[in-house]
Amino acid sequence: MKVSIIGAGYVGLVTGACLAAKGHSVLCVDKDPEKVGRINEGVSPIHEEGLNALLTKTVGKTMRATTDFPAAVRDSEITLIAVGTPFDGKEIDLAQVREVSSLIGRALRDKDGYHAVVVKSTVVPGTTDEVVLPILEETSGRISGRDFGVGMNPEFLTEGQAVADFMDPDRIVLGANDSRTLTLLERLYAEFQGTPVLRTNCKTAEMIKYASNAMLATQISFANEFASLCSALGGVDVVDVMKGVHLSNYLRPVAGDGRRVQAPVSSFLEAGCGFGGSCLPKDVNALISHGRKAGSPMPLLSAVIEINRGQFEKVVRLVEKHFPSLQGIRVTVLGLAFKPDTDDMRESPAIPIIRLLAAAGAEITAHDPVAIPTARKILAAEKVRFQEDLEKAVADAQAIVLVTRWEEYRGIPDVVARANPEAVFVDGRRMLDKSRFARYEGIGL
Ligand code: NAD
Repeated sequence: MKVSIIGAGYVGLVTGACLAAKGHSVLCVDKDPEKVGRINEGVSPIHEEGLNALLTKTVGKTMRATTDFPAAVRDSEITLIAVGTPFDGKEIDLAQVREVSSLIGRALRDKDGYHAVVVKSTVVPGTTDEVVLPILEETSGRISGRDFGVGMNPEFLTEGQAVADFMDPDRIVLGANDSRTLTLLERLYAEFQGTPVLRTNCKTAEMIKYASNAMLATQISFANEFASLCSALGGVDVVDVMKGVHLSNYLRPVAGDGRRVQAPVSSFLEAGCGFGGSCLPKDVNALISHGRKAGSPMPLLSAVIEINRGQFEKVVRLVEKHFPSLQGIRVTVLGLAFKPDTDDMRESPAIPIIRLLAAAGAEITAHDPVAIPTARKILAAEKVRFQEDLEKAVADAQAIVLVTRWEEYRGIPDVVARANPEAVFVDGRRMLDKSRFARYEGIGL
């Protein structure tokens, strides 16, 4: 199939490379010529396991990037929209979706044959039918259902394992309001045999994505609320509490070989310094505002956001406990990416934590295995000293704060014991053995 994908970011590029590897002919469109140039050289502009290998295999054969929007749409039978949908502080910002819808519509004016336009971006329920479709009709002069169709195909990949997730998805949700668009979507995913496919309308497909993200965010804030109570009561550690909860058979399904295994969702039921990233905070906030506008406030999700915001401050309080003031105190932050295995720092808890520490006068050093180049831009105003060598990063610190659950940090107890055993260690992810540190603090302890 000939596919055009608008937006070659985390979702668009991974989708493009994976669909190209599955044999489709893919054109990835982006307005950023530098990104397009790198992709066409077979080099991924983002850090994502397996993506460079896929690009090497597909670029110049079944995959190409371009800035020529109209040609890409005209040269394909299905167009996926994968542009950003940020939260503007009040509601979802659909400016990119509106802009590309109108550009697709204009390209469709000169195109013969039926064309499907499918939203892959996360958009609030109603967007495909009530925003994208009318813009397409207006700018193309064509009629939906007769000349073109709209669909909604939410993406569930997780950054850091995006290629593996896309190639072996847990589900495929196909939202479409007409049978021709549904048929095109089914052809697009024909190679994904064995994956459960849910066919529904566009609005339901949009809601499934929000419900999925809201559930994960709720679990994180649930664990963090317990962490706060454990800290307040004393004599009870949230890590042990959650271990006990995880032993429930609800969270330990029976595997094929008859043994009980831990459900992956358990990883969201761990206390920590809060969730971040390009999806959970913005999507939960956008849904709350959408619910409010529809006359259906979402108090549970509002509390999820409020609890999450409080976690960043809790980490800083744990450092403050050990010093009369943070003025001039050398603090090393371990982990800048919002999660391990990515260089994505969008809404990373590291940002508010570093800003709060800096505002209190701390002198900050930061380490991350891959996100330092991104951090240099985002934290330019905070006078952070970046250190790529882990041992050097901790050697001189008076306090060390672990923010991201990188596997590399499993070895931190040895590094700290060797380089700086007297430092206060604040474990924002509760991933390390507290008995290995002379001065340990942790969320929910
Ligand atoms: P991103 O910012 O990484 O990528 C968006 C891309 O769109 C950018 O490369 C940008 O240059 C391009 N773009 C913007 N306007 C354009 C235009 N007019 N023409 C051509 N290109 C244009 O965003 P992302 O993380 O890939 O997210 C995209 C969507 O997918 C969002 O709605 C997000 O919520 C959703 N989503 C993201 C993830 C994730 O893990 N990142 C997972 C599931 C769903």
